[in-house]
Amino acid sequence: MTSTRTAARETAASGARILLGKPVAAAITEDVREGVAAFVERYGYVPMLAVMTVGPTAAAERYTETLRKQSAAVGLAFERVALDPDTDEATLRATIVELNHRPQIAGVLVQMPLPDHLPQTIVGETLDPYKDVDGITPANAGNLSLGLPGLFPSTPLGGIALLNHYLIPIVGKHAVVVGRSNVVGRPLAQLLLREDATVTIAHSRTGDLADLTRRADILAVAVGRVGFITAEMVKPGAVVVDFGTTFTPDGLRGDVAPEVAAVASAFTPVPGGTGPVTNAILLRNTLRAARETMAVRRHLHMPGQTNAD
Ligand code: NAP
Repeated sequence: MTSTRTAARETAASGARILLGKPVAAAITEDVREGVAAFVERYGYVPMLAVMTVGPTAAAERYTETLRKQSAAVGLAFERVALDPDTDEATLRATIVELNHRPQIAGVLVQMPLPDHLPQTIVGETLDPYKDVDGITPANAGNLSLGLPGLFPSTPLGGIALLNHYLIPIVGKHAVVVGRSNVVGRPLAQLLLREDATVTIAHSRTGDLADLTRRADILAVAVGRVGFITAEMVKPGAVVVDFGTTFTPDGLRGDVAPEVAAVASAFTPVPGGTGPVTNAILLRNTLRAARETMAVRRHLHMPGQTNAD
């Protein structure tokens, strides 16, 4: 039961609900932990998440270590695949193919962007769609837009999980998504469409953005500019979901200005909103990928089949 103190922390001075990511992530993580334990009991092996970096950056190192700890917490095996920054295209492809063929590896996450001398599309072209836990392959992107099952990007899936957790109605609402990247904006728009929202996508060439955002019941923003969405751009009572994460000297900041709290009925804070949910979903995708792979193996009578199946 939510205590009065917790309820107070979840409401801004304006009365708007603060949609915190932590409880959502915790609920998903607990489900994944139970799911991994059941998987191990059923199939007799521990599925693994492999995280690849091509050249170390401080942010990638930090993120990899976080994922290592979070994988351990849900019982998933974890492997770091660290390639040199000057890795050539053929080596990168060969390494991904090797990971595709290792049966214990359920999911592969390649940290983007790749160094400039490598085509950014190489991972999507080479990675096995069944191991594509961040939904970047054309096969999974195609499944998403066709309304078929698949593995979809963690960040936008996390946004939907957050709205569902807080019982924010989506059906029939006008959702405006600002940003159309392949990792956040575009898949988010597809996911909102699947949830029966009426969806508009805005981007850098959109004319009169404020006119559009003011018509949104749900305003989702993934631009990467601090305070880009101001209070005047938000319809009173709208639900505002902020995916922006920019590191500033004052700490992590989102795309939505703080004054928006006075206009919105609910909003995700930065930090502490959409961010924490992303990794939980990545782990959930890894478990799903493991289950799906076993289902395919059973169907094909490939190794991995057990009597319990
Ligand atoms: P991105 O690839 O740079 O895409 C930014 C999008 O914003 C583009 O579609 C761009 O339009 C649009 N845009 C730029 N200026 C605009 C303007 N003036 N008006 C309207 N649209 C504009 O960024 P991303 O990878 O999607 O990331 C966006 C933000 O989300 C970043 O802060 C990133 O750090 C964060 N992020 C958060 C998470 C999380 O877990 N919360 C995960 C991933 C990313 P065009 O397509 O026309 O250029």
